Amino acid sequence: MDEETPAPPIPHDLHSEYEERPFRHCTRCGETLADDQGGFQISKAYKQGECVMEYALCDHCRVNMMEEFSQESKKRLAEYQDANVDLHRGLHHCSVCGISRGDDGVDDFVITGICEGVNLLHSIMVCGKCGDGIQELISVKTRDTWRRFVDDNFPGPPGDGEYPELEETPLQVPVIDLKVSN
Ligand SMILES: [Zn+2]
Ligand SMILES: [Zn+2]
Repeated sequence: MDEETPAPPIPHDLHSEYEERPFRHCTRCGETLADDQGGFQISKAYKQGECVMEYALCDHCRVNMMEEFSQESKKRLAEYQDANVDLHRGLHHCSVCGISRGDDGVDDFVITGICEGVNLLHSIMVCGKCGDGIQELISVKTRDTWRRFVDDNFPGPPGDGEYPELEETPLQVPVIDLKVSN
């Protein structure tokens, strides 16, 4: 990393709503994120402006999950990313279409950050519409991988809110590989 320009701290937007503090542990394996050397991913999905799902994934789990994705899906996602995704728009503008979170009709979106320690290295937002387009790129097998992740890690309501139906769960697997493409 470049020591002259330190990465900004992880913004409040990417804190855990459920725990009301920054994420401390990997949602999948429980590893302490501060100890994670490879950098971890935080994703939060919003529907109608409310966070309906959130998770943190340590580098190990992130890599493991990507490995389970089909080659075909990975290839299509990489091609899509190269052609359509701007990784420098931050958390408030869709990295695909550029629409802003505050704009009319933009109530559904997913934000993702790649973090290390207490710092944010990369971040993107994908609006609901563009997210749907990305979902269509991936295979049934890859969708099954995601479904398993949800089943294994989110057995019930995260809080006292309604737990979304699986079909309504925005796909927020690490579809966009911030690390490789940066
Ligand atoms: Zn993990
Ligand atoms: Zn968009």
